[in-house]
Amino acid sequence: LSPQHDQLRRKVENGVLELFFHYSSQLRHLTKTARDAGPQNVPETEKAFKNAIDSASAHFYALMADAQKLGEVDGAGTLRDRRLQNLTNLMQKRIKALQNPPDCANARKLLCNLNKGCGFGCQLHHVAYCFVIAYGTERTLILQNDGREWRYSSQGWTAAFLPVSDSCFDGPASANPWISIEGNKNHQVVSLPIVDGLSGRPPYLPQSFPKDLADDLVHLHGDPPAWFIGQFVSYLMRSSPKLEKWLGEAESRIRFGEDPIVGLQVRRTDKVGTEAAFHAVDEYIAWVEHWFAIESLKQGKQLKKRIFIATDDPKVVVEAKEKYKDYEIFADPSIATSAQMSSRYSDDSLFGVITDIRMLSKCDYLVCTFSSQVCRLAYELMQVDRGDAASWFHSLDDIYYYGGQQGHEQEVIISHTPSNEREIELRVGDVVGVAGNHWDGFSKGRNSRTGQVGLYPSYKVKEKWRIVDFPSYPNVKV
Ligand code: GDP
Repeated sequence: LSPQHDQLRRKVENGVLELFFHYSSQLRHLTKTARDAGPQNVPETEKAFKNAIDSASAHFYALMADAQKLGEVDGAGTLRDRRLQNLTNLMQKRIKALQNPPDCANARKLLCNLNKGCGFGCQLHHVAYCFVIAYGTERTLILQNDGREWRYSSQGWTAAFLPVSDSCFDGPASANPWISIEGNKNHQVVSLPIVDGLSGRPPYLPQSFPKDLADDLVHLHGDPPAWFIGQFVSYLMRSSPKLEKWLGEAESRIRFGEDPIVGLQVRRTDKVGTEAAFHAVDEYIAWVEHWFAIESLKQGKQLKKRIFIATDDPKVVVEAKEKYKDYEIFADPSIATSAQMSSRYSDDSLFGVITDIRMLSKCDYLVCTFSSQVCRLAYELMQVDRGDAASWFHSLDDIYYYGGQQGHEQEVIISHTPSNEREIELRVGDVVGVAGNHWDGFSKGRNSRTGQVGLYPSYKVKEKWRIVDFPSYPNVKV
């Protein structure tokens, strides 16, 4: 199929979803307005609105099932998966070549300090950011002290993962600090600060992706930046033999591949009230229900509802098991210890969080809060392992983002006249810096032409991809 065909299909699928967000939120709002207006006729009005929501949902499920099936007919899905797999093979080969230079002593290197003082997901994303810059500047990524000092394990990085290189280890003791691409041109070893303190910001920062892969990626994948980051995360998270065994056991307990399964990540404890709001288990389950309704229509049979729960709060699993008796519920047995934010993790808690991320990435759909790096990691891995899984999620809060990213921009495709003071005007071709999707049909952002900040209908814009000239590693062939 042509690129235009695939892009239009994804646009229709997204449009159906945005329409559902909008009308279900409008109907919920009307129900509340009726309730607030007083006791007269409330039961009848509520019943009428509930009926309207139910019939809109049934209509949504049917439309969505068809929109998704359109991507699979005539073998198109298989072909797309195969082509994406070839691109993954190419990227993994390029990364491997970068990490194993023929002359390590004289190779250009980028030093990355493993110990950014934050959670596992945050730290993995920090190393992946170093890796993207290493790829962009054609420098071998070196973990400082070869990753021996890692707050997550006394045995260092290799307690869980394979070394980032088979042949090229810690560079000379002295390294030049990062200045800029131009400023470090003649330096053999450069040490990169955490992204929060980075000046001379290179164009390679997320959510950029390489020009030499752009035509294929924009054609074949709904979220090229997440796919591209996923390549580095996937390489970094190649398991040590001990972890491999552990993951294999978790996988066989869940029996992936038999019946579909939805992954929930419920982030609680220290995050709630500081970096994210509380979301009740029911809010997650509502999206599990939507997903199974659509999938059952697609498969033409009633499916058993299976969910995998990843969480830092074991009470969530207890609550879900009590409330949702018709569900088959899986959870990693080691969660009780995994959330302890102690200065050094035990191997069980380190393996616990990695298992949760890996198992989430093997599910058929994710329901989570993208404010959590744990869920974003799972989403990124999913893109590498599962073809175009760009729309296989529902986030209860943020849209997909990457810490320290460049401005996330969208381009207006349909003009908009504000209908109240919370909305902003859009003209075709305007560029909007998007802050978030309110999942009610509207997004919030800043129109760079007018400087206005406010709401606009999400369906009136499209992504403005950051396509950047990365090196194209011409010597590496699939
Ligand atoms: P964020 O704070 O959610 O953005 O993610 P981070 O990974 O940076 O820090 C959260 C830490 O809490 C993780 O490193 C884990 O120790 C723990 N945690 C959060 N969510 C989960 C989860 O779903 N499963 C497990 N096992 N641990 C989690």
